[in-house]
Amino acid sequence: MKLLEYEAKQLFADEGIKVPQGLVVSNPDEIRMDMIPGKVVVKAQVDVGGRGKAGGVLMADRDTVTDTARQLLNTKIKGLPVPRVLIEERLDIQHEYFVSITMDRAKKQPVILFAETGGMDIEETARKNPDAVRSVTFNPLLPDVPAFLLRELCGAAPSEIQKTVNRLYHVFCHKDALLAEINPLVTTPAGVYAADAKLIIDDNSLARQGITVNRDLTEREREAEKHGFSFVELGGTIGVIGNGAGLTMSTLDLIEYYGGKAADFLDVGGGADSERVMHAVRLVASVPTVKVIVVNLLGGITRCDEVARGIISAGVGVPVIVRIAGTNADEGRKLLQEKGYEMLDTMDLVVKKAVEVTR
Ligand code: GDP
Ligand code: MN
Repeated sequence: MKLLEYEAKQLFADEGIKVPQGLVVSNPDEIRMDMIPGKVVVKAQVDVGGRGKAGGVLMADRDTVTDTARQLLNTKIKGLPVPRVLIEERLDIQHEYFVSITMDRAKKQPVILFAETGGMDIEETARKNPDAVRSVTFNPLLPDVPAFLLRELCGAAPSEIQKTVNRLYHVFCHKDALLAEINPLVTTPAGVYAADAKLIIDDNSLARQGITVNRDLTEREREAEKHGFSFVELGGTIGVIGNGAGLTMSTLDLIEYYGGKAADFLDVGGGADSERVMHAVRLVASVPTVKVIVVNLLGGITRCDEVARGIISAGVGVPVIVRIAGTNADEGRKLLQEKGYEMLDTMDLVVKKAVEVTR
């Protein structure tokens, strides 16, 4: 789950990283003038990168802060409404660095990226001059980034920068992060500060991190999580239900092959009973763009008669086209036939049919 800048900065500060003084407001009336220094930055708290270039980071002072905050709260940044702004003391920036920690999946080790020219053009730098971004990986059981690697990484940057990188690594570990990033990490006459903050928590660790609601999921995805379904919304018109990742993915591939577009897919997993199938069908049908549902299930431990009962009791409004094979398939087909459901013998045929229906 992605944290917003002000949330990440709080966690960075807990590990001893210096962050600017600031306050978060969702309404200009909440601004406490006694907390506003002479010069401030007003920053949209939205979950997108590149806010600076999109007009989401504005300079202001005591006289203009209220209007600036109001203006930002009433605009959209890259299409997203701005529910909150962070108002911070403006840093007197001398130099901007870039540091980012993530996992190198191939090496199964944390990797730290560092550039001596950070800021809003880091992507450009990485593309045009990849050597400017240095990286190190190291044993994840070490409690600190080894000092020699910090020196190698940070080059001529002041030693306080090295300390901050190590603190960021502590955040990365303690918060079960997939990404911990500061861009820009800045030097100022008052020391080294995190001017920005990005933190993504591993969804598998949310409970351990005391986070009860994954904000990054849609309401439907949350419902799916409750039932233990793998469920993803895709924006097309065909709903897909399969069992097993392989069968579900190949159903999606076939939809593409025949020129259709999947609205969502759901993998019910092994041994689904009728109630589970009912929830699955209703959930897939609840995506507003769904015009037809393809059920492609292979009976093994899963019994096809249970699947049929689940489809029938779901009783959704859109057509459901079914391919079931394996354990108790004949019984299942008989039940569905009685209720007038369309059934075809192969996944090729059901997908072709579904694509036709959406045309
Ligand atoms: P992003 O564009 O979403 O990454 O937003 P940032 O928080 O990184 O801000 C964008 C740019 O605004 C930074 O690269 C800085 O150059 C500038 N900026 C942000 N905070 C300050 C500040 O306190 N003082 C000054 N002078 N510039 C700032
Ligand atoms: Mn930034």
